Amino acid sequence: MAFENLTSRIQTAMKNLSGKGKVSESDLDDTLRQIRLALLEADVNLQTARNFIRKVRQEALGSKVLEGLNPSEQVIKIVNEQLTEMMGQEAVPLNKSAKIPTVIMMAGLQGAGKTTTVAKLANRLKENEHARPLLIAADVYRPAAIEQLKTLGDQLQIEVFDKGTDIDPRQIVKDGLKKADQDKNDYVFIDTAGRLQIDQTLMQELKDLEQIAKPDEILLTVDAMTGQNATETADGFNKSLGITGVVLTKLDGDTRGGAALSIREVTGKPIKFVGEGEKVSDIDVFYPDRMASRILGMGDVLSLIERTQKDVDEKKAAEQLQKLQENTFDFNDFLEQLKQIQNMGPMEDILKMIPGMANNPALSQIQVGPKDFSHMEAIVYSMTPAERVDPDLINPSRRRRIAAGAGRPVVDVNRMIKQFKQMREMMHKFTSGKGSLPAGMEQM
Ligand code: GDP
Repeated sequence: MAFENLTSRIQTAMKNLSGKGKVSESDLDDTLRQIRLALLEADVNLQTARNFIRKVRQEALGSKVLEGLNPSEQVIKIVNEQLTEMMGQEAVPLNKSAKIPTVIMMAGLQGAGKTTTVAKLANRLKENEHARPLLIAADVYRPAAIEQLKTLGDQLQIEVFDKGTDIDPRQIVKDGLKKADQDKNDYVFIDTAGRLQIDQTLMQELKDLEQIAKPDEILLTVDAMTGQNATETADGFNKSLGITGVVLTKLDGDTRGGAALSIREVTGKPIKFVGEGEKVSDIDVFYPDRMASRILGMGDVLSLIERTQKDVDEKKAAEQLQKLQENTFDFNDFLEQLKQIQNMGPMEDILKMIPGMANNPALSQIQVGPKDFSHMEAIVYSMTPAERVDPDLINPSRRRRIAAGAGRPVVDVNRMIKQFKQMREMMHKFTSGKGSLPAGMEQM
């Protein structure tokens, strides 16, 4: 998961300040020196790291926070604000043309995730706006690229325009745009060719395509895993082509995070989206403030809530809440919840969005994999309908039968039933207002 090291290094640096009633200028400088090193190790651009430290120092000394109450908290607040500013402050939406189609030209090095991103973005527009995008396959140098785009288009039921690989991409784009005009598509995505590195031929081709397509948006895809190179690539493309935004991919990987922090400052262009997995739904708007919180280990509660909301059927959720309040939540509801949780993605990623969890050593102990879910499901499926509705029916001999049916040891069945009852009890208490949330959960 991205940012792990950076988060723990910054937290350690901050610990220097906390617990001190008064913070001296030299304490502050000590902490800032550690943060600067942490940023450099995370592959943040050198100049960006320097500017950042200078601004935090200026703010901290200028606003005299060191003399006030809770100086360490104030410094964290300043660091948070400056991180947010460095990444561009606000989320920046896709440019949209006043008349259809909005043309989005993609650019990027080979393997950065361009083709995948085209599918993710087009699908997002289709789902969110009922858009009818057309994808133009103009990467004629990598034959597999066209096939890949066509396969994705088939899966998502999004139309792909292609003319094979024996034709100049300039002509493909001209013809594709003509088709989009005829068919009144509202968005056009142009999937262009990549190279292993920036070269003149590639840049000339992209410039020509830009002249032809007059795109509303030139989105550069860069791979977060490539660290400093990602920032340099963005800088290079921006200087020769002029981009309007960046999609930072593979943020789900073990990246140190430098690209997310440096690209805006170095290129002046916003990161608009981040890719966080290989699935089509693994794309999110880039919110600088949420990213800053995540880097500081303060969690990303807003994204967690959005993710939960996106995947949860609201009517069902309301029904389940009512059942919890009435204490009639049963194993059928439990099954439903298991399914919803699995749809949300890897458990580990979800837990990390909770404040304070990102670097919690306990997290490495929690391993809820797809297997655990299927074991729990198997146990519920081995219950009779009556047992699912009334878990109190499940006596020891029934437990043995259920265990045999699910192919699990009886202890697993016992444990699950016990946990289910505890959970139901706890949820009942606080959904009916009779209890308080466990410490730390209140913030959520
Ligand atoms: P292109 O050459 O730039 O068109 O790159 P592709 O779209 O073919 O992607 C290259 C590889 O990166 C593929 O295996 C993708 O599945 C993978 N990929 C793309 N975006 C992401 C992402 O956000 N996370 C992860 N983990 N993999 C990604």
